[in-house]
Amino acid sequence: MAESGMEHFVTTVSEDHETTCWGCGLRLLLPTYAPVFKCGWCGAITNQNVNKPETKCLWWRRLRDRCFVCILFIFMLFVICGGIWAVYPVVFSVSYTCGIVHSILTMILASTTVSTFSLAAFRCAGRPPIILWGSYPVVGKGDLENYTFCHYCSKPKSPRSHHCRSCGICVLDMDHHCPFIGNCVGAANHRHFIAFLFSAVFSTIYVSIMSAYAGWHIWPPLKYRSLGHLNGFGSSDLALSAFKEVIFALQSSAVQMSARGLILFYLFISSVSLEIGLSALLWQQLCYIYEGKTYLSHLSSQGGDQIDEKDCQNIFRFFGCPYSVLRCLPSLRNSPKIHKK
Ligand SMILES: [Zn+2]
Ligand SMILES: [Zn+2]
Ligand SMILES: [Zn+2]
Repeated sequence: MAESGMEHFVTTVSEDHETTCWGCGLRLLLPTYAPVFKCGWCGAITNQNVNKPETKCLWWRRLRDRCFVCILFIFMLFVICGGIWAVYPVVFSVSYTCGIVHSILTMILASTTVSTFSLAAFRCAGRPPIILWGSYPVVGKGDLENYTFCHYCSKPKSPRSHHCRSCGICVLDMDHHCPFIGNCVGAANHRHFIAFLFSAVFSTIYVSIMSAYAGWHIWPPLKYRSLGHLNGFGSSDLALSAFKEVIFALQSSAVQMSARGLILFYLFISSVSLEIGLSALLWQQLCYIYEGKTYLSHLSSQGGDQIDEKDCQNIFRFFGCPYSVLRCLPSLRNSPKIHKK
């Protein structure tokens, strides 16, 4: 009876706690049941509690993102053409040289904004490098150190990768999924995204200055009513009445404004609001790059005891060194950009 009980116990141990590493395919015997464990040979982390996730809405999300990006792209072209139509007759009427200089400036700003936007939106955000996995002789010791298994893609996910549910792929050094470019911002397009933000901020500043200048030039003349009846009032009453008079004159002249004037007014308001939003986003992105982090690694390190290395080198590394070179440099692979587990 005792013997059969012992036999039963031994069998239970080997059945319950024997498991297979997804990385190297080796059968592992765990002393106790562990839902998450790390393989001593290849270093891969296995999570036994994950169920196969559903991905049925993926095509709809991709379609929605692409449609939104196309609408945004058409809107951008409309703003550029509208700006040229509204501002250039005014600039050329001031001076021909002035018009030529501003045409060249517009061409440079518009082409850099459109090209960097296209690169950030339509380029793959950064696929993780292909790695061999699944069987013992192929996977060497430590080959999959801290790799996990992506159940959406059914392949290994490196510690620097993150799965994006909107794009349906794993993205290397993922920063965030940006709905405005309909794409993830990752290792392969992060610099294009930053270049787009820089270019868009400069372009909107330029548009707001030029639309204000052209609007001021074509604004109908202000007609003031006689201020003679204000004689004898106190100075504060006089200032208030003069202010009311200016507002009234602006209102009555705005009614006579042409279609060009209205477009200039719209351009000014939209460019100033875009300028504020884009500048805030650019500033936030530059702060993360300075700290050597991505937005996602910032979120995962929040509340932790990790001290990040804040360094201007991070910015130079980000802009100066191509990704392919970074991957070959072992010393730079330990940059703080690596996600905290
Ligand atoms: Zn393994
Ligand atoms: Zn994935
Ligand atoms: Zn994405």
